[in-house]
Amino acid sequence: MNQNLKKEINNLPSISNIIKKYNLSAKKKLSQNFLLDLNLTEKIVKICGDIENNDVVEIGPGPGSLTRSILANGAKRLIVIEKDKRFMEALKSLKIISKNKLIIKNKDALKIEFKKMFIKYDISNAYIISNLPYSIGTKLLLKWLPIPPEINKLILMFQKEVAERIIAKPGTKKYGRLSVLVGIMTDAKIIMHIPARAFKPKPKIDSSIIEFNPKNKKKLLFKVEILEEITKILFNKRRKQVKSALKYFGDPIILCKKINIDPSIRAEQITLESFEKLAVVITNHRQL
Ligand code: SAM
Repeated sequence: MNQNLKKEINNLPSISNIIKKYNLSAKKKLSQNFLLDLNLTEKIVKICGDIENNDVVEIGPGPGSLTRSILANGAKRLIVIEKDKRFMEALKSLKIISKNKLIIKNKDALKIEFKKMFIKYDISNAYIISNLPYSIGTKLLLKWLPIPPEINKLILMFQKEVAERIIAKPGTKKYGRLSVLVGIMTDAKIIMHIPARAFKPKPKIDSSIIEFNPKNKKKLLFKVEILEEITKILFNKRRKQVKSALKYFGDPIILCKKINIDPSIRAEQITLESFEKLAVVITNHRQL
């Protein structure tokens, strides 16, 4: 690891001072809640293990606390995507001391074509680490499912309540569309909870960090758009028996028979395996 870079980062003014110096008052519209404690951001980066030979992508660096920890831990390169141009000046000083290991993109992460970006920067074996802007957190997560082959794992922060929905198990109230999409395509677990007081300004709710690993490298036998459509329709009618919602995709009784489920159960009782089978059956049917 580059000890000089670590020292230089440690010698930078505190994040609170950076916020004051550049007058970076938080904008609610952009879900700006900043982490100021670099011991905490260090712990978050350490979830990845050793990142010295890896590229990292961070969404929403803001004044740069997590960014500092990623660089101090020796990331090979770090690409940050930040929509708010007010942070560019503060991030530039990190770029200078990291000798251009830091690539700064002043863009809306929702508009980034990640596949193109990975090709442009010849990225493989990378991590995505982010204290996500809450307002677009789940939209971004869906953009990274299935986890692209260039990415090793995702370490993402969500509001605690959203994190609990993401990892919810069948048969529970929180089990829904997100739990199914994530559960089929990744191994996801909550690694730590972060209390609201760790942020400035303090949000109303606590947050949680989830580690997402690709489930298996084998090719998916269904179209992701079809799984998205199925989960959308079934969970929009979560109180109805599945035979009612499944009408949209064909004969519901035949479909239930094919995947071996009782047509009178509700969406939240369908296991991940059955959702996956359903997606395969409907994908194959549509290709006929
Ligand atoms: N990483 C910093 C930290 O942990 O203190 C800031 C995290 S803050 C929760 C979210 C950041 O995402 C803000 O800096 C905000 O400006 C940025 N952001 C919001 N919407 C964005 C978008 N569509 N694309 C890229 N960045 C965005």
